Amino acid sequence: MTTNKQHTKYIFITGGVVSSLGKGIIAASLGALLEKRGLKVALSKADPYINVDPGTMSPFQHGEVFVTDDGAETDLDMGHYERFTRANFTRKNSFSSGQIYDEVLSKERKGDYLGATVQVVPHITEQIKSKIFQASQDVDVSIIEIGGTVGDIESLPYLETIRQMRYELGPQNVLCIHLTLVPYIAAVKELKTKPTQHSVKELRSIGIQPDILVCRAEREIPLEIREKIALFCNVPKGHVFEACDLASIYEMPLILHKQGLDQKAVEFLNIWTRKPELHDWKEIVERLQKPKDRVKIAIVGKYTGVVDSYKSVEEALIHGGIKNNLAVEISYIDAETLKSSNLNELLAPYGGVIVPGGFGERGVEGKLLAIQYVRENKIPFLGICLGLQLACIEFARNILHLENANSLEFSKSSPYEIITIMSSQKEVINKGGTMRLGAYHCRIQPGTKAFAAYSQENISERHRHRYEFNNQFRDSFEANGMVFSGISPDEQLIEILELKDHPWFIACQFHPELKSKPIDPHPLFSELVSAAYQQKNLNGTI
Ligand code: GLN
Repeated sequence: MTTNKQHTKYIFITGGVVSSLGKGIIAASLGALLEKRGLKVALSKADPYINVDPGTMSPFQHGEVFVTDDGAETDLDMGHYERFTRANFTRKNSFSSGQIYDEVLSKERKGDYLGATVQVVPHITEQIKSKIFQASQDVDVSIIEIGGTVGDIESLPYLETIRQMRYELGPQNVLCIHLTLVPYIAAVKELKTKPTQHSVKELRSIGIQPDILVCRAEREIPLEIREKIALFCNVPKGHVFEACDLASIYEMPLILHKQGLDQKAVEFLNIWTRKPELHDWKEIVERLQKPKDRVKIAIVGKYTGVVDSYKSVEEALIHGGIKNNLAVEISYIDAETLKSSNLNELLAPYGGVIVPGGFGERGVEGKLLAIQYVRENKIPFLGICLGLQLACIEFARNILHLENANSLEFSKSSPYEIITIMSSQKEVINKGGTMRLGAYHCRIQPGTKAFAAYSQENISERHRHRYEFNNQFRDSFEANGMVFSGISPDEQLIEILELKDHPWFIACQFHPELKSKPIDPHPLFSELVSAAYQQKNLNGTI
């Protein structure tokens, strides 16, 4: 078993009262602050559900699936961890109860526990520890966010593991931060502390005394209320922090730093560090708060009713805005509502359009109409994954006049199978974890718009798809104005394409949004935002 490296310190983040309080943002912000103090930090997410990973869950259920370089399909909080820090994490940083049980059961079948009755304590808890240690190799501080809410049946084994780790490694090596809600009751004009008290009581009944409380609230929590919370929850007075609603999540590291959260964390863990250098976070917040202008971008998708379905795309657009000093106003358009008759009315207000990734046929015809509209009206466009595949189908149908051209995903009998399946995918039976996943290299053609964006020939980007462009159609596409500006090193797979006769029409088979950070915005998003802004200025409609 992998064991704890003595110098690694652990910070556990749990949540209470209700879900969706933003544990991921708190974990990511603390990670950012500790990194800026010169510490090497890992961030991991432990999810209490039974799915082995979220790869097979619908975005309607679970929001976006975030893919790491090594091809793990993970929780969208991993996206926050990567965006807030310099790190790129791996499959070791994301695990679920399903995965833990799967591993324990296969050990049991192998006979590893021969003679023993396999139980939640100690076998499941030991496996959780081993996962935590694996995710914490060679780092100074390992931050682990526990999914779900304290009080859920599912999260009990994780909480028991925290209790044991604290017991085994000592409190100076294990810090427990609990995020709770302090609701404002308008009728009595009061902030209420009782839910926090109950949530901490629940934690303490499992043997965990939180060291620090972060209280989510609509409005500032006065000192006397924070002191009351401290007294009732048995934490020192200065250990109750507030996390009020913010205009941007990227303000959170500075807000927490101002209250001294990172200082308290290092003091508690007995780590000596320099003060954090937060110059670039200040610059990011400054640009977000005082943009020189604004630009409107539409995302034409299928999962538009679910807030987190396109989380990374949304964040990458904000980063593109930061780079250009522009506020990006993002609107979602449900592809199923698009018709030839309302296209102009619905899409004309936007400087740029994105067709993001997706699965299944619903909304495809609407997305094709949107792509035709932006192609013909010279509106800047970025197609991502399914967006590239549909840009190819639209081109085949409307430029090459290949009637009923389609993707094998949507039609088994199309006369022109523009998007097809790779031979390696033909044998796949299990749906989980079997797509083309993770980082692949791509070579960019000099002299193209893609090259102008990246300014380099060799790039690596993350994938999550089963289907690919059908090479039989390469020549006819190229002869009619399509440029394949990014190709896999073995020249077999189309990775980026663009239109010659268009101000900015680019589509990529990978997901560029997964690698964008506010500190290092992804070039395709920066260029889309810039092109969208220029285009609107040209049209004089901004
Ligand atoms: N459904 C398409 C495929 O599997 C596209 C996937 C995506 O957009 N992520 O190839």
